[in-house]
Amino acid sequence: MLLNLLVLNEANHANNDNFVEKRCAVTPATVMRFSRMGLNVQIEKGAGVLSGYSDQEYADQGATLVEASNSVMSDADIVFYVNRPAPEHLEQFKKEALVVGHIDPFFQQELVETLAHKGVSTLSVEMIPRSSRAQKMDALSSQASLAGYVMLMQAANKLPSILPMMMTPSGTIKPAKVFVIGAGVAGLQAIATAKRLGANVLAYDTREVVAEQVESLGGKFLKIDIGETGQTKDGYAKELTEEQKIKQQEAQQDAIADSDIVITTAQLFGRKPPVLISKETLSKMRPGSVVVDMAALSGGNVEGSIPGQTAIVEGVTVVGDGNWSQQVARDATDMYANNLLNLIDEFFDAENKCFALNLEDEILAQSVITHQGQISNEMLKKAYGKE
Ligand code: NAD
Repeated sequence: MLLNLLVLNEANHANNDNFVEKRCAVTPATVMRFSRMGLNVQIEKGAGVLSGYSDQEYADQGATLVEASNSVMSDADIVFYVNRPAPEHLEQFKKEALVVGHIDPFFQQELVETLAHKGVSTLSVEMIPRSSRAQKMDALSSQASLAGYVMLMQAANKLPSILPMMMTPSGTIKPAKVFVIGAGVAGLQAIATAKRLGANVLAYDTREVVAEQVESLGGKFLKIDIGETGQTKDGYAKELTEEQKIKQQEAQQDAIADSDIVITTAQLFGRKPPVLISKETLSKMRPGSVVVDMAALSGGNVEGSIPGQTAIVEGVTVVGDGNWSQQVARDATDMYANNLLNLIDEFFDAENKCFALNLEDEILAQSVITHQGQISNEMLKKAYGKE
């Protein structure tokens, strides 16, 4: 029997987040690959429209267009989301179906517990390890790269000046100064984009190992002595002490005051992001300067940023729109769809035409968070206090 892969039109299924999902979990190209692998791809009508793919393009590559009815949902062996399941879907999944998406598991304990209780196997793409082998499936990275580009472009659009130096008979314009705080995947892409547009770029990260990467993109790395910082074994930043946080904020103040654009991308895996810029620091910037708070939707790096909105705070334009990669939904869809294709392909048992859910494998051991009625991820059990 063919394996049913269902892809939903997430714009139709609200899941308590205040935005319409524009991305889709498959492209016509990945549908063709899944069909060749022997999967029966069912796609909810209109699923690709907001990312630029028509129903006909999917149908031409072998997908069946469906409504998300009870019977379609309960026949699905694999259900792909970009985001996470809507509450009304929880009753409809087949027991032992594989549900894949951005589950946001550290902040969605109730949802994860329900998925476990239903006997569904849930693969949370945020939990895919950041290893070389898993790179092709790494949705956090693919979406963060686009976010870095989008944030810089948004800031450039809102700034009342240009980014490159311009020498004209009417005068010389100095290059804009861009300060990027957090030089992970998104930050490095923001740095590269700012450099391409001719800005002077400064960056800071608590993981000093990234200084070399910043410099290789033409940026300068701000050195701040806040004592021991470092990173976890998975490469994520460690949380700073209260004393270190104060030292960092003080040491960054001059750099922020001197910048036309500041982009904050600092995240702590599984925790609320750190507050990096106070209103007092914003008040030291030139009016009309722009700060983009990548973390605005999840707690915020910038005091006064409004989730989902652009606001003027202390005369500075603070962009907290969030959902950055959705603003380039077509590229975001292409990359995410490739991540999921690579994921299924890596673990597809071609002989038995099934997904080989082997929890001994290090990628699945970390990313499959519910299985056979249990929460199967150790890090989450600890975070939920269920060890
Ligand atoms: P992230 O989104 O968790 O955080 C963004 C950046 O913010 C990080 O560089 C982090 O160090 C920094 N940060 C945290 N607190 C800060 C603070 N107070 N001040 C300044 N900066 C702060 O990070 P990410 O982009 O997801 O990357 C996480 C790690 O994974 C990195 O080591 C990255 O190189 C690594 N990675 C590896 C692979 C791979 O090997 N396949 C792929 C992607 C990322």
